[in-house]
Amino acid sequence: MSELGRISSRVSAARKDVEARGETFYPGPSRVHLSAFPPKERWDDWVELESTEWPKKVERRYMLVPTTCFNCESACGLLAYVDRDTLEVRKFEGNPEHPGSRGRNCGKGPATLNQIQDPERILHPLKRIGKRGEGKWERVSWDEALDELAGRLRKALTEDRKNEIMYHVGRPGEDGFANRILAAWGVDGHNSHTNICSSSARLGFQLWVGSDRPSPDFGNAEVIFLISSHLETGHYFNPHAQRIIEARKRGARVIVFDTRLSNTATHADHYISPYPGSEAAINLAIANHLIQNDLYDSEFVRSWWNWEEYMHSCHPEEACTFDGFERILKDLYSEFTFEYAGSEAGVHPEELKSVAETVARAGNKLSAHNWRSAASGNLGGWQVARSMYLLCALTGSVATKGGTHLAAWNRFSPKPIYTPEGPDQWNELLWPREYPLSHHEMSILLPHFLLEGRGKLDTYFTRVYNPVWTNPDGFSWIEALTNESLVGMHVALTPTWNETAQYADYVLPMGLGSERHDVHSYEQYDGQWIGFRQPVLRVARTRMNEDLTDTREANPGEVWEENEFWMELSWRIDPEGELGIRRYFESKENPGTKLSVDEYYGWMFDNSVPGLPEAAAEEDLTPLEYMRRYGAFEIRDKVGALYAETVSSEELTDVEIDDYGRVYTSAPKMNQPHTVTAPKAPRREGLRCTGLLIGDEVKRGFPTPSGKLEFFSNTMVNWGWPELAMPGYIKSHIHREKLADGQLVLLPTFRVPVQIHTRSGNSKWLDEIAHTNPLWINSVDADPLGIRTGDLLRVETDLGYFVLKAWVTESIKPGVVACSHHMGRWRVQPESQRQVTAAVNLDREGNKWNMRRISDSVAYESSDPDTQRIWWSDLGVNQNLTFPVHPDPISGMHCWHQAVRITNSHSEDRPGDIFVDTEKSSRVFREWLALTRPVDKVSPDGTRRPSWFDRPGRPSDSAYQL
Ligand code: SF4
Repeated sequence: MSELGRISSRVSAARKDVEARGETFYPGPSRVHLSAFPPKERWDDWVELESTEWPKKVERRYMLVPTTCFNCESACGLLAYVDRDTLEVRKFEGNPEHPGSRGRNCGKGPATLNQIQDPERILHPLKRIGKRGEGKWERVSWDEALDELAGRLRKALTEDRKNEIMYHVGRPGEDGFANRILAAWGVDGHNSHTNICSSSARLGFQLWVGSDRPSPDFGNAEVIFLISSHLETGHYFNPHAQRIIEARKRGARVIVFDTRLSNTATHADHYISPYPGSEAAINLAIANHLIQNDLYDSEFVRSWWNWEEYMHSCHPEEACTFDGFERILKDLYSEFTFEYAGSEAGVHPEELKSVAETVARAGNKLSAHNWRSAASGNLGGWQVARSMYLLCALTGSVATKGGTHLAAWNRFSPKPIYTPEGPDQWNELLWPREYPLSHHEMSILLPHFLLEGRGKLDTYFTRVYNPVWTNPDGFSWIEALTNESLVGMHVALTPTWNETAQYADYVLPMGLGSERHDVHSYEQYDGQWIGFRQPVLRVARTRMNEDLTDTREANPGEVWEENEFWMELSWRIDPEGELGIRRYFESKENPGTKLSVDEYYGWMFDNSVPGLPEAAAEEDLTPLEYMRRYGAFEIRDKVGALYAETVSSEELTDVEIDDYGRVYTSAPKMNQPHTVTAPKAPRREGLRCTGLLIGDEVKRGFPTPSGKLEFFSNTMVNWGWPELAMPGYIKSHIHREKLADGQLVLLPTFRVPVQIHTRSGNSKWLDEIAHTNPLWINSVDADPLGIRTGDLLRVETDLGYFVLKAWVTESIKPGVVACSHHMGRWRVQPESQRQVTAAVNLDREGNKWNMRRISDSVAYESSDPDTQRIWWSDLGVNQNLTFPVHPDPISGMHCWHQAVRITNSHSEDRPGDIFVDTEKSSRVFREWLALTRPVDKVSPDGTRRPSWFDRPGRPSDSAYQL
């Protein structure tokens, strides 16, 4: 008998028993047994028992509305359980229709409920009264805020002060929406958080393959190679973690590099705890093992690496043969023995050899990822990613089943209803001349650039971004933000208070993850999907036949959503259309009227998502109705090795082939679902690059200038760094040779699985689990100081010091200490998120700043009785305030690791104390700036940046000219 049959029999028997006793049998609220998720056919009217009525069996009816989690970058699907009677959201669970997350979430997904119910969230637009930062606010109407902003922006635009407008976003929602707004305004003002997150890793991948991140097919891998904490917090955390676990259950081997014994490391078959910054040396030792023992895929290398270009450039005296290249390759990494890497890493060479043997057994199913972690901690961290990808390139694990794919091929960017041209501007506050190869904006340097007079801002928007707390050197941010001659107006678009919003002029409440629209698609397996975030109460009420045209009508208070806000603001900037802005915000359906979000997304789903209109039609829905009902759509479940696709003969008319096999054609571009050739690959006049001659066939190739995997980067040569043209090892700024006596390395790059920067602070469930960040210190380092767990320590950095509690543990390497970057929230004014923010005094004397916590109480009265039950009081420390900026001279990445001294606390020290001298931070900024090779000296062609390096809000070609 089947499982279902057995259950039915048991239910029938139970019914008989109950009825025999003369009682009424209750068949269960769902009337369905053993269903992992509510079947989608019943999402409009789903019944569950009310838990608060237990033991009574009171049924509640729900409408299940899909949306997308916003508590990290993974964009997992959520289902909001909207009570049909009260129209309240009662809980969030996973959306089983979402191809990336497949119904699963981490703890942060369901905690969205706390965030929408936060009694201290901002519900109305607020305007500063008093001095900036003083904490005095008045409530204003949206109209007042919009009119003032529109007038101000219009003035800046018409006075040609476009570079004084800046939008600084941390986690964007919809990819590219704000860029298009800025482009419509003609502004090069997009700023991001990327250079405190992933600039390094992105550059490492970009140089190899022309796509700035990997897309590992973990689920089908033989060997999973992680330089990250993937199973707890890694990039695309839950969607990736579930696939890694599935692969491991099937027998895949997992290799983890992490100096700190992370939860991920505890699941590894090979766990390596390297000295921070030595990871590239290990990668190269593994590569050397593969090369010396002929354990690599020679045929793949011959076909797909740009070895000819390397031979011509670096060994012109040699015959350009593959045999010759292989001989040279054997020499190239021969110094990277296991003994050398082991001595750099503080790891036994035999352990490294064992890892290398496992890698060699992967065949072409090596699935590898490095995102933040070592790449983001170290000077030259981009070589960690580049040397890791060398292993994929050697084993041929590139876009194979179980290998490592290109993100560009596994994510999908739908075309929007309007695509304004890129601005005819170049903003040197964001893309300064010192960093022509930076991967994304040099956002950590903004306060330094402002303070040294490189420019000023008329209007500065921050959105999902809290640089005062999140960035290094937060006091320099405060110094810049409180100077009204440098920042004319700061507008914080935020659902909650944060350390940066305190220094705003307007605080405008934006919806949380379930209170707004956007679309997104991320590379989480070898396939493509698109997800739709939507305001669930607006959708629920619309399904109940209410006519809502503005998300504010459904959100709490006057909370809005960013898309409607930008559309309305743009409309008011150019009401008559003479600036050429309004045309990008007009309805196509009803010309002369403003575009609505329904039309915006309706057009996108109708016109630019392959297969969606057909899938919707099968259910008698429009594409927009389909996405509103299910929240996600899988476009393709296998993408595979696009580089090896043969170019069709229609695309091969009037062909020219260059010395390296690049094929150019005058044939028009075919309608292909993916970008394969580099967006700005070198072209001949009137021709476009269409592929690559491999054998006697033309293949699509990779989106790099050569069309091949660029083991050798001519871009690095041409742009001033010829010595770093190949995967290599750069000794970190915290290499042992560079430390002074008594210094240790502080590793501040890890995050705890249940928090996400400042976005999750208003979730009481998450705060109860994680609210502090003690210093991980090995007993080898703690014992000489007599330090025990719970003792207070001072950690001295280049700018000052911070005080926190110790956690003495063998889970961190001797000589290294670690502190999670997720805690130490603080507030000056007003009171908010008190379960996780400490009220502090900020004292400033010239460049010297002191922070001290002024209250130990955390519990407070509010409309939520739980706020009086808060039992914790240790809220950690904002260590980032004490870090100077360390911009990598090539990638622009802030190199997070710090050389520090640990001392016992002084008698006057209190937990969370901070002292910083910002004079020192300017000095360190200038020292790192001196490491760069500015574009004026290195540009090979009079442009600001290699044209094949894309960038957010890509300006016109003329703006690329110096
Ligand atoms: S991994 Fe967790 S926080 Fe991130 S999107 Fe998924 S459920 Fe949300």
